[in-house]
Amino acid sequence: MNTSKSFLEERLAQGTVICAEGYIFELERRGYLSAGEFVPEVVLESPEAVKNLHREFVRAGSDVVEALTYYAHREKLKLVGKEDILEQLQKQAIRLAQEVACEFPEENPLVAGNISNTNIWDSSDVKSSEKIVRPMFEEQVRWAKEAGVDYIVAETFCTAGEAQVACDVISQEKIPVVLTIAPYNDVVTRDNVSYEKCFELCQKAGALVLGLNCARGPATMLPILQRLRSEVSCYLAALPVVYRTSLVEPIFQNLKDKGCSCIPEGRPYPTALEPFVCNRYEVSEFTKACMALDIRYLGLCCGAGPYHIRSMAETLGKTTRASRFTPDLSKHYVYGKKENLKPFNKDIKDTFLN
Ligand SMILES: [Zn+2]
Repeated sequence: MNTSKSFLEERLAQGTVICAEGYIFELERRGYLSAGEFVPEVVLESPEAVKNLHREFVRAGSDVVEALTYYAHREKLKLVGKEDILEQLQKQAIRLAQEVACEFPEENPLVAGNISNTNIWDSSDVKSSEKIVRPMFEEQVRWAKEAGVDYIVAETFCTAGEAQVACDVISQEKIPVVLTIAPYNDVVTRDNVSYEKCFELCQKAGALVLGLNCARGPATMLPILQRLRSEVSCYLAALPVVYRTSLVEPIFQNLKDKGCSCIPEGRPYPTALEPFVCNRYEVSEFTKACMALDIRYLGLCCGAGPYHIRSMAETLGKTTRASRFTPDLSKHYVYGKKENLKPFNKDIKDTFLN
């Protein structure tokens, strides 16, 4: 790691950094981990599956390979009776990310470590919570530091208290911090701290980039970002889920599918969200709105696929390896306009496809 000015800081000073997230959801869909516990044992069991997804995201324009250590912390692994694989899993996840980054010398992606909410932070007993949570973060951050990550993402926190501890632990090791809050509420964290105040506290605790990830789709994350932009002076981050949340259903856990009556408990989250997936054009519009706010750290969380990331990258003016296959309907046999396409196929359009 460059200790004078971090690689991440240099990249942010030059322009926008894209960080693909959403690995847990994508690998669940591909059959490598279980929805509910969401523990990425896939890192040890099927490392190639993880590496392939890393590759796909970098090909699509992610400037970062984020190690898949989300929810691979002591508490979660204890919950599934596999605490003994913690260290091995953590180290392997970072190694996989680094190996993939080395495959892309031209893109030269950054490698990020990752820590996340522990789900055991009790805001009514901060002292006891910190006693358990701090050492959990410390061990993960130590392993990430030993491996030489470029920075660490601390994500999906929903209390200011736990977020601050995360920032503090990482910055004490002199590693750059990207801290993102999962915005369940549009004004305050679960421990009732305004996002503005929470960011101020996290900045004091050493965060370089602050923002929001997960929970909300583009439509309901954007208004919060617009408000925060005028209040926050540091680099802002925006990584929504890729689902069509709305004023009535602002977070993806709220979504209801009126067109389907067979979803367990009637709740599409987390396994029946397909009808709500944003398309690439919606991602592009969100990207433009973020550019207007000078949000320098962008990405997508749950629901994201490589085509979404490519849309984001291309909207930012980047050409990615996957851009070679960006849609070109001018060559479609019915909808195309190329001269050598057969005119009689236009009839199909007029007869059947209107
Ligand atoms: Zn997410």
